[in-house]
Amino acid sequence: MPELPEVETIKNELSQSITGRSFIGITINDARLVQNPLEEFSRGLIGQSILQIARRGKYLILHLSSGRVLLMHLRMTGGVLLNPPLQDKFARVIFELDDHSIMVFRDIRRFGTIELADDTTRVESKLGMEPLDEAFTPAYLEAVIKKRQVPIKSLLLEQNVIAGLGNMYADEALFAARIHPLKAASALSRLEIQHLHSAITDVLSEAIACGGASVANYQKIDGSPGSAHCNFEVAHRLDQTCYTCHSRIRRIVVRQRGTYFCPHCQRK
Ligand SMILES: [Zn+2]
Repeated sequence: MPELPEVETIKNELSQSITGRSFIGITINDARLVQNPLEEFSRGLIGQSILQIARRGKYLILHLSSGRVLLMHLRMTGGVLLNPPLQDKFARVIFELDDHSIMVFRDIRRFGTIELADDTTRVESKLGMEPLDEAFTPAYLEAVIKKRQVPIKSLLLEQNVIAGLGNMYADEALFAARIHPLKAASALSRLEIQHLHSAITDVLSEAIACGGASVANYQKIDGSPGSAHCNFEVAHRLDQTCYTCHSRIRRIVVRQRGTYFCPHCQRK
């Protein structure tokens, strides 16, 4: 599932490729993904140019010359490709731009969403702090952690607390901070919270530098894979050996999310 580093990579690549371009054609192969009435969606996009591309949490946001925004959420298996090969049965919505490049919203399982909205108010209202913003400090993390009894892993996935952190990078951050995923958030010491804070920012920054992780079907906009998964210590490494202690990596389910950890390095 694409998380902050994957969406950030797509944002950076799209910014370089399509900023300033305008929409000249839309083909909707699967109406389920589009959150607006289809005619309104197409009418609202055709002729609009793309002023800026941003990311908030796991949302990709295209700011349009009309002042409105095109919001994309990749959910489980969504992706955005530029000029991919034609004849792809998973190409759900196809955008043609004025330089005749083609941007495709591709989605195998069809949970992704595309919405033309007046502004980002509704997105903002659902999201907490960006973990790579300067305002995301150990003190902020301590303030939100200390009043919660839930397993720390669950809390890290709450988008209204930390925006954009997802399953893979939460597991990686907890390993880097040597914290057991089931430990109650409120039971973390100040030192553990400081370690967790730097683990979150380090893990995300390194993953962005690697162009995201291609463990499932994530691709960069040219179809090539990212390499962040090559650095994973626990995520998706069930029964493999911990690089630190040589124990076997385990997988448990925490609030319905598969969670990887090292039982030796991350003791409860
Ligand atoms: Zn270990």
